[in-house]
Amino acid sequence: MTHAGGIGMTSEGTRQRLVRRLRDKGIRDERVLEAMAATPRHLFVDEALSSRAYEDTALPIGRGQTISQPFVVAMMTAAVLGEGRLGKVLEIGTGSGYQAAVLARLADKVFTTERIGELQRSARQRFHRLGLHNIYTRHADGNDGWPSQAPFDAIVVTAGGRIPDVLYDQLADGGVLVAPEEAGLHQQLIRVTRHGDQFERENLGAVSFVPLREGLE
Ligand code: SAH
Repeated sequence: MTHAGGIGMTSEGTRQRLVRRLRDKGIRDERVLEAMAATPRHLFVDEALSSRAYEDTALPIGRGQTISQPFVVAMMTAAVLGEGRLGKVLEIGTGSGYQAAVLARLADKVFTTERIGELQRSARQRFHRLGLHNIYTRHADGNDGWPSQAPFDAIVVTAGGRIPDVLYDQLADGGVLVAPEEAGLHQQLIRVTRHGDQFERENLGAVSFVPLREGLE
């Protein structure tokens, strides 16, 4: 027997539908689509919202924050994934933990920081329940990165603002960072690839994330 809160197979059909929609919207990397298909998004939202978990929309997760739209999660993941498997990945803004759970299927280790203690704790419980033992979480301000674990092969920032300078320093040579950067009233998804001391910048288009803030709650 399964219910909405369990890790049952009830959501399998709707999850496959979501994956088809992502493919139609232009996500072509099979590794990303597989990781999305394998991640039960309904377990990353409140039970009252679980029936909407496989819609391609952002949803509230409390404390004024949101779980990102699946298309955006897929796009960010594809943007940092090179040819092979990722080694160490840093995420800023754990939120529900969904993006970290998707990354965890494609990386050796995922380090993720969240400034709101309550969200960090619930995400950590979800990782534990789902057996995602390669995700490490911290209640910390992501503006500092995670110096003791640097350098990272990929850095994914899931809150919008100015990209913190320290993140460039914590990127491995050949590593890739994606971040929603504030540009006037809007945000642009920026991808930065490190080549030694050079940082190549690309604009991947308009996005809309909750703001990157400072300090802890
Ligand atoms: N990746 C998340 C999206 C969460 S929304 C998911 O898949 O669900 C962005 C999150 O970033 C929010 O939870 C917010 O509290 C957090 N955040 C904002 N500024 C931060 C900072 N400086 N350090 C760490 N987390 C931050």
